Amino acid sequence: MKGKKKAETIKKGIVFDMDYTLIYPTVKFDKVFDKVFNIPFSTVSDQWLGTIYSQPLAKGYDIVKSTFPEMSSSEAQEKADAIGLEWAKVHNIYPGCVEFLSALKSNPQYKLGLLTNGPSDLQRAIVEYFDMSKYFDVIIVSGDEDVGVRKPNPEVFRIMAQKMGLPAESLFMVGDVMEKEILPAVELGWGGIWITPNTEQIVKSSNEHKSKSSDSIKLQDLLKSSHSIQDKPLSISWSDIEVESELIVRTPDQSNSIIKYVILGATALIGLYIIYNKFFSHDYSVEENPIDPLLGDTALISEEL
Ligand SMILES: [Mg+2]
Repeated sequence: MKGKKKAETIKKGIVFDMDYTLIYPTVKFDKVFDKVFNIPFSTVSDQWLGTIYSQPLAKGYDIVKSTFPEMSSSEAQEKADAIGLEWAKVHNIYPGCVEFLSALKSNPQYKLGLLTNGPSDLQRAIVEYFDMSKYFDVIIVSGDEDVGVRKPNPEVFRIMAQKMGLPAESLFMVGDVMEKEILPAVELGWGGIWITPNTEQIVKSSNEHKSKSSDSIKLQDLLKSSHSIQDKPLSISWSDIEVESELIVRTPDQSNSIIKYVILGATALIGLYIIYNKFFSHDYSVEENPIDPLLGDTALISEEL
């Protein structure tokens, strides 16, 4: 069949998160919101975010309508379309990402998936803006009518596996948030490819979780093992992301040791935090990751972007 990869040649399914894995916003959501609605986002953020979290299937229209009940239906739809497009327009795709996805797409051994949290139409506005459907065989947004569950809920990974038509041991999840994307996938028997293109986040979390296991291999090796992107391993790629240090593949049989490592690391950090607070400082505070107001917890907004 034209345009379809033959099932018997597919060896691996690689599923990507979207926000901060493939793309990133260049301005804060507040600015875009202000432009579209002419009021500060902070004045309505509770209602906006509350709708996203309480109604997993809410579309942009529903979110606008619940935030601005007095707005006419036609204007609400217009605003929903506008916020979707304007938010998409302020995103950039990571350097080299297109080449990387193209290389994977042209390899008949890979089937590609996109798995992103958020309202279906608003996330798909971004997908469309970047013409991502040409790279991905399966695209799932948590707010899609037939989905309604968000990462890290394992159910959304099971839905993806089913739509990919591949067993867990053939699947890999690529994402920037360990707890939300990598660990749930690994627990289901997938491989996990944790990337941290956001330098702020690298500082915050990579040392806490990075596996030192000698069994870890780099994505280049994964690609080389396919015998088909031999001339262009990841040095082409979607990075600038410091491929050498930040792209690590964890194969499914490492899952137990990874989880132990994370639990041990987290326990140690909590212990240190308690000791630090008790003996050294009363001013220390943990700044929570800012939440992307449009996408819920889909993306982290970098303060300097
Ligand atoms: Mg992300």
